[in-house]
Formats: sequence, C-alpha cells, structure tokens
Amino acid sequence: MERTVVLYPGLGVGHLVPMVELAKVFLHHGLAVTVAVVKPPLDTPDFSASVERFAASNPAVYFHVLPPPPPPPAPAGSGSDGTSVPPIVGMLGFLNAMNAPLRDFLRSLPSVDALIVDMFCTDALDVASELRLPVYVFFPSAASDLAVFLHLSSMRDSINTSFGDLGDSLIHFPGSPPFKASELPSDIINDNEASRLILLMFRRHPESRGILVNTFETLEARALRALEDGLCVPGRATPPVYSIGPLVSGGGGSDKDHDCLQWLDAQPDNSVVFLSFGSLGRFGKKQLEEIAIGLQKSEQRFLWVVRSPRIDEKNVYEPLAEPDLDALLPAGFMEATRRRGLVVKLWAPQVEVLRHRATGAFVTHCGWNSTLEGITAGLPLLCWPLYAEQRMNKVFVVEEMKLGVEMRGYDEDMVVAEEVEAKVRWVIESEGGKTLRQRATAVKDVAAEAIKEGGSSHAAFVKFLEDLRVSMFHTSGHLGV
Ligand code: UDP
Repeated sequence: MERTVVLYPGLGVGHLVPMVELAKVFLHHGLAVTVAVVKPPLDTPDFSASVERFAASNPAVYFHVLPPPPPPPAPAGSGSDGTSVPPIVGMLGFLNAMNAPLRDFLRSLPSVDALIVDMFCTDALDVASELRLPVYVFFPSAASDLAVFLHLSSMRDSINTSFGDLGDSLIHFPGSPPFKASELPSDIINDNEASRLILLMFRRHPESRGILVNTFETLEARALRALEDGLCVPGRATPPVYSIGPLVSGGGGSDKDHDCLQWLDAQPDNSVVFLSFGSLGRFGKKQLEEIAIGLQKSEQRFLWVVRSPRIDEKNVYEPLAEPDLDALLPAGFMEATRRRGLVVKLWAPQVEVLRHRATGAFVTHCGWNSTLEGITAGLPLLCWPLYAEQRMNKVFVVEEMKLGVEMRGYDEDMVVAEEVEAKVRWVIESEGGKTLRQRATAVKDVAAEAIKEGGSSHAAFVKFLEDLRVSMFHTSGHLGV
C-alpha cells in the first residue's frame, strides 16, 4: 500500500505556505500526502482563500479542513472567562483543543504512516503517541531561530531573571551571533503565561523523532552545526535535524495575471524596490506617510503593498479593510510618483514580484517565508522587522548571512522618511548596494543547487525518508503500518 503522511500546519498563511511546499516534496518522493488544515477561530481574510488556492493548484495533495474543536472553543485573544489574553496564549489553547478533531480525523483514515506537525502544534505529539505514529516537527523558520528556541529554557534558567530585565544586553546562544535580549520575540521577553507556554512548546520539540527545518546547509552552517553537536539542548539528546529547504512557493496560479506584474514588465532590470510586510504587517498613518515621503524623495522606482492601519493596535488578526489611499498617503504623492511607483492595495503576488527581472531590492519584515523568497530571488534585503522572531531574523540576515542591511528605527517609534530615502537610494544606486546584489545572486544559485538531486537539502530529505522507514518499522501504527 502507498505510504501516507499527514501534515499538520499551524495557524496562519506563513505556516501553511511552506507546509504545502513540503507536501510537494513528499509527493515527488512517491508518498501520498494529506494536509490536515486548522481553520483559525477568527478567519483571517486571506486564509480560506489561500487554502482553496493551494487545493486547486495541488490536486495530488488531499486537503482536509478539520472541524472546530469541541465547545466552548477559546477564540484567539480572549480567555474562557471573557478576559483578554495575549493572542499567542489564545492560539496555543486553541491548537491544544484541536487535538480531539485531529485524533478523530487520523482514526478515520484507512492508513497513516507518519505525522508531521508544525512547530506550534507540539501538543499533537500526544495524539501521535496515543496512536503510535512516528512524529516529526516541521520548523518553518530559520535554523538559527530553532537553535535559539531550543536553548531558551536553559538560557532562562542560567540568566536567573526574565529576558526583559536584560534589555539591550547581548545574549550568546550557541549557533548564532550574539544579539540584544530585546530582539527576542516580545511574547518571550517577560515572564508570564505566554512565555511559559512558549518555553514549554520548545521543550517538547526533542520528544519528536526529528525536526525538518526550512533552510539549507550553507545559509546557516553555524546554527546547523550547533544543533548537530547537541549544544542547543544541553543535558538531552537533540533529535536529528534535517535542513531540507528552501521550500518556497513556485507562485503561478491566477496571481500571474496581476496588474502589478504587467507594470513591472515595463520597468528596467533590477530597478524596482518592492515593499511588503507579510500576511499581518500593517502600519499607522504617520508611518505610512514617512514611507511615502521617503520613496518620493528617493526618486527610485517602487512597488508598495499598502494596508490600512489597525483600529485596535493589539489585535493582530483584525480583518483587513480596503485602504483609502487618498486619506492615508500624503496629498500629491500618488500623482508625483505616478511614473515610477505603484501602490498595490492589501496583497501582492509576492513570489512573482520578487522573481521579476525588474525587481531590484526587497524591503521586508523578515518573516522567514519572505526572507527565503527574497534570497531565492537573489535580492538584497532591507530589513524592517515587525513582530514574532523577525528581529532575530534581521540579525541573522544582516550579520550572519550578509544578505541585507537594517532599516534604522525599526525598534523605535518610527522609520523616518530620511532613512527610507537613504536606504532605497543606497541599495539601487550605490556600489555597496551593487556588491550586496552580487552576493545575493551568488547565494540564490547555491540555494537552487541545494534542492537539486545530489544537493544538500535533497540528500537531507532522502536521509529523513530512510530514518522514517526505520521509525515506521519500529512503530506499529493503529492503522496497519
Ligand atoms: N504574501 C504575499 N503577498 C503579500 C504579503 C504576503 O504573497 O502581499 C505571502 C508571502 O509571499 C509569504 C507569506 O505571505 O509567503 C508571508 O509569510 P512570512 O513568513 O514572510 O510572514 P508572516 O505573514 O508569517 O509574518
């Protein structure tokens, strides 16, 4: 019988996108794949549409949207007593409650050989153990993040205070350049329910049979070595870490007809700066104005994805509303930049834009998918981290990979217009910018080699499949493995 793996992505487009790419790799290696999709409690506008799009463009992958957990489901962002809790606490509670529908679904399948869970779904390790299924974690972010996160609990114990108390002091994690404690994800910085749950989640990673990480060997050699040498999980065995990336969406579908791609067709090579801030990134009006002024003054070509500001600053999942550009952007901006700039509302076909010959640089929030999409397109990165592990990614991109520079002010109130103007000019016009682009082009080629037959990531996946076969041999699953 054909081998079947079930992939269990976390919430959010940034976790679903690379999981779908992973599904394709399994297919390529002759396994059948089912993606068990969790519908977010508050459906983000792009989520259902993304699932439908993925399902339509990958007919060989079976997508199953799991039913919601048994009542009362905890809506993300609010406690069962109606009090407000940090979104991450709501999300982890919701994922925990999803164990029941996941278990029922796995039981309903005629055959399952392995379960691959997203980094946020470690509670599902219990389901795998109950059903005696080999289970692996898929870590969709950088190996450097993984090295840090696996070490978090012992680092927290060794500093004997909260990370927040360290402020801007440098911390040294095995496998990564030193960085300021304040660059850690905000949910980890203070000792509270959110950081407790996150530390617990990462403490559970080593219970899996192995961790698949979306990176490639030469991009993050230092972090991967530290993981392999067991430096990140002191006192415990680190499971094998397989660097199988870059898993980057191939784009395509209806996106290829987007107006902005036709606009790019009319621009010179490597001339356009693309600004896009992930699936959740949104700015206040003042910051939008600063970006607009900076772009206008830079006199460079640009393609900018603009969203309206959040009404509730704290609600990361607040539905997107069509932005009113005339109200949000400075008077005269659209007219003044008409010939060399394009504003796209809400969402752009990012992968296609990045790969377009006219695109010359990427202002990114350093989400890991965006980072890899930029790297595999051979673009220099202007790093403007916003949330989650993005400030750490900025450090890795700038200091370790040397594929980008930071936008100063990202960690203050505002990135001012002068900084936008200076960096955009620098990256397109200066010798430094050209050198960075040459380096990015070289790394793009190395990334492409990694996933080819015989490349490091291809070999890592083959090794993973061999290990999986051994795991399956030693585990008699509930469904006739
Ligand atoms: N994305 C896109 N168009 C947009 C904004 C985002 O296609 O206008 C895609 C982007 O290509 C990436 C994903 O959304 O694949 C965002 O993932 P990432 O890890 O970069 O950031 P997150 O949204 O998780 O913060």
